[in-house]
Parts: sequence; C-alpha cells; structure tokens
Amino acid sequence: MSQLDLRELQSTEFPVPDELQGNLAITSLSRVYNWSRRSSMWPLLFGLACCAIEMIGTAASRFDLSRFGMEVMRGSPRQSDLMIISGTVTKKMVVPIVRLYNQMPEPKYVMAMGACASGGGPFKEGYNVVSGIDKYLPVDVYVPGCPPTPQALLYGLIALQKKIDGQSLANMDDVPWYGVGPSEPTPVPVLGPDIIDPRQMDLIRRQAEMAAQGQQFAVRELPALPAKRATPKKASSKAAAVEAQAADAADDPGNAERMERRLEALARKRARDAAKAGEAS
Ligand code: SF4
Repeated sequence: MSQLDLRELQSTEFPVPDELQGNLAITSLSRVYNWSRRSSMWPLLFGLACCAIEMIGTAASRFDLSRFGMEVMRGSPRQSDLMIISGTVTKKMVVPIVRLYNQMPEPKYVMAMGACASGGGPFKEGYNVVSGIDKYLPVDVYVPGCPPTPQALLYGLIALQKKIDGQSLANMDDVPWYGVGPSEPTPVPVLGPDIIDPRQMDLIRRQAEMAAQGQQFAVRELPALPAKRATPKKASSKAAAVEAQAADAADDPGNAERMERRLEALARKRARDAAKAGEAS
C-alpha cells in the first residue's frame, strides 16, 4: 500500500530513454510530498467511548494498520498527524480535544469515527453531548456506523489517503500550512453551565442584551397556517351525500356536468323506488 510504483511514476509526458527505464523516475514535488505524508500518518492515541474498541481492534494483528504506515499511534499531539475522534464527544471532553488539536503540527487531519463523533449519534441533543465534532474542528473524513467495523475504519483511512493524494502544492487552498506565517489556532470552547463556543461570542452577547431588555430571542417564527377548509357536514344518507357533493361541485365548472348526470340518475332511482312502494301498497 505504501509502495511508490515506479512504473506509475514514469507514465508522464516526459519520454524516458530505454536504457534508463527502471532507473529514472520523473514526478512532481506534490506527488512525493503526498506519498510520504499519506504513507506515514501517525494517529493520536486516544479513545472516547465504544468506537475506540473497534479502533483498537483495527490496530491489532487481524486488520493491521501497519500496512498503511499508521501503526505508530502517538501519545503526544506534537508527534501526530491524524486525530481519530472515536466515540461520544461530551461537552466536557470537547475542550481538551480542541486543545490537543491545536497542539498537533500542520499538516493535520481529523476523522470522525462513528455516529456519535459525526453527529451526536444516539445521544444527539443530549444535555451533555456535542452534536458532532465538526461543530468545533474541521473534519476530513466521516466514518458511519455505531460502531463502525474495523473494515469501515480502514475504508475511511483509505479515503483519507485518496484525499491527501489529490492535494497540490500549487494550490494554497489545498495546503494552507505551506503558506506564509503560522496558522490560526482553533478557539478552545469554554465549559460553563453549558458549552460556549468563543466564535459565537457576538451572538451570545446580543442575545444576553435582548434578554436583559425582556425581548424575545432565538425563537423561530412559525409560518402562517394555511386557511382551514370548511368541512362538509356529514350526510345522513347516500342521497344527501350526493346532493352535498353537487353543492360543492357547483363551484367547479369541470365537475358540474358529471354531477348533473348523477343528480338525474338519483332522480330516476327515487322515481323507481316510489313506483315500487306504490305497487307494494
Ligand atoms: S457511535 Fe455507537 S458505538 Fe460509537 S461511541 Fe457512539 S454509541 Fe458507542
């Protein structure tokens, strides 16, 4: 998996003389950077909940992360390239998670493993659970499942490698860490009575001012209800029901002719019934 295929490297627009075939590789700087980065991705060693057990299983011999050059799970964020968020992210834990992320050197990647890390999972909207780590960190790959199997995690890691393969040094949006100057740290949330995202301080202040003035805030306006249609009165008999429909259909020119025929049929039926009743008496 981590082998650089020499034949693939030589399939460029530059012709390689026959005598140098197999000894010369022509490629781009981006490709070499990407290949070395994607083949030595060191994840940060930490787990949050049940998903972490599957992550541990992925690192064991049966699935073998070494094939991806990822077996060196580091105990320090300063030596890690990849943060696998494996488990439920509680409001208490999101604070150290963001702090650890800030301590990782660029280039760094984040993988949300499982339903909890991706969107809150079965605890979504819980009083103590964050509805997805992507509210706080930029996530590169989401791995669905509750929990995802080791195979699913491996698939996510391959997807991440493909993403890295597509990055180019020529595009600074792809690789901002090669740009000029240090990158901005992600604001660390504050845990008070509830979790507070410092990026939303302006909004929180505005809402606090409105609350102090007794105004309503953060309440969605409900759309106006459509006008209620008048319910036709329940017909006491079939004939009455036909007459009620006829009254409704009078408003609709398309139905008027059909209703007229039904009324004529009803009149004929009434005449027949009356004739039968006369014969019987
Ligand atoms: S996604 Fe499922 S298995 Fe993973 S941490 Fe949440 S509840 Fe546990």
